[in-house]
Amino acid sequence: MMKTIGYAATSCDAPLKPFSFERRALRHNDVAMEVLYCGVCHSDLHQARNDWGGSVYPIVPGHEIIGRVTETGPDVKRFKQGDIVAIGCMVDSCQHCDQCDKGNEQYCREGNTQTYNSPDRIDGQNTYGGYSKHMIAREEFVLHVPKNLDLSRAAPLLCAGITTYSPLRAWNVGPGKKVGVIGLGGLGHMAVKLAVGMGAEVTIISRSDKKRTDAEELKAHKYLVSSDESAMQKAANHFDVIIDTVPYKHDLDPYLPLLDVDGSLVIVGQIGPLAETSSVPLVMGRRRVAGSLIGGIAETQEMLNLCGEKNILPDCEIIKIEDINEAYERLERGDVHYRFVIDMSSLKND
Ligand SMILES: [Zn+2]
Ligand SMILES: [Zn+2]
Repeated sequence: MMKTIGYAATSCDAPLKPFSFERRALRHNDVAMEVLYCGVCHSDLHQARNDWGGSVYPIVPGHEIIGRVTETGPDVKRFKQGDIVAIGCMVDSCQHCDQCDKGNEQYCREGNTQTYNSPDRIDGQNTYGGYSKHMIAREEFVLHVPKNLDLSRAAPLLCAGITTYSPLRAWNVGPGKKVGVIGLGGLGHMAVKLAVGMGAEVTIISRSDKKRTDAEELKAHKYLVSSDESAMQKAANHFDVIIDTVPYKHDLDPYLPLLDVDGSLVIVGQIGPLAETSSVPLVMGRRRVAGSLIGGIAETQEMLNLCGEKNILPDCEIIKIEDINEAYERLERGDVHYRFVIDMSSLKND
């Protein structure tokens, strides 16, 4: 076993604080790493506070992890000591069902093992995430990080990046495709950067004019104000796909007519009941409302490689681990452009 330290919530109303624990002994196919950076995802906050139910305490959040390999098990082939690596939202899956075979480990028929707050498939221990000094995962769920990427900014690619990349790939986004993005937070800003990088025409759809400058900085091609009825009418039938990153229940009706025939609105933000929606725009244009969950491991590597090639990186604010509780409060207010990343060198071993 390896002694390590992290930050944990011990109950749904306790702030995160230092927590000493042990990582499992290295298995034959395991990669151990020192965590360098960990992104702060909205779901970390939800799970720390048990907003979705099912949180097992203590909970060590964090599933946007960049690390440096410290040790490898005897059967590990693709990694060696010193390599810069990444771990996202999953650390294991059954590896033999049809979905795992297709590289859709996120849809594993037996359920994937999440990076934190999930029972390990072998010893049943609750998994602990990346708000910690060390991390261990089986080789198949460890990713290579392209050498040119600024490591302090790369972590959010592992959740916000792949969550938006996977639907863009599934809907064949590329040159000639028209993509709309609703919601401009951690997910939305990555959807914009990735779709631009993939060569699509990208429009940010926002309730007001306030984010027009942000849209320019993100290199979006167009900006559509959803409260402007005439602009919305002009944009009817325009989009092949709309990535909807809004994290709460909202009205889809204004957006569906914006889709072209066979267009899809893909929900990646909200998890829960949708607002009542008219089927008229769906029926009249064979339009679809769809959903998508993170992405597979091979697809995540493909996304990291694309980001390396095109130097696509999230916009981040680097924080120290002791500021995590304040960061959660700011995250709740939407007061971050666009993702917090914890510099894990701020976590000292006692
Ligand atoms: Zn996440
Ligand atoms: Zn499976």
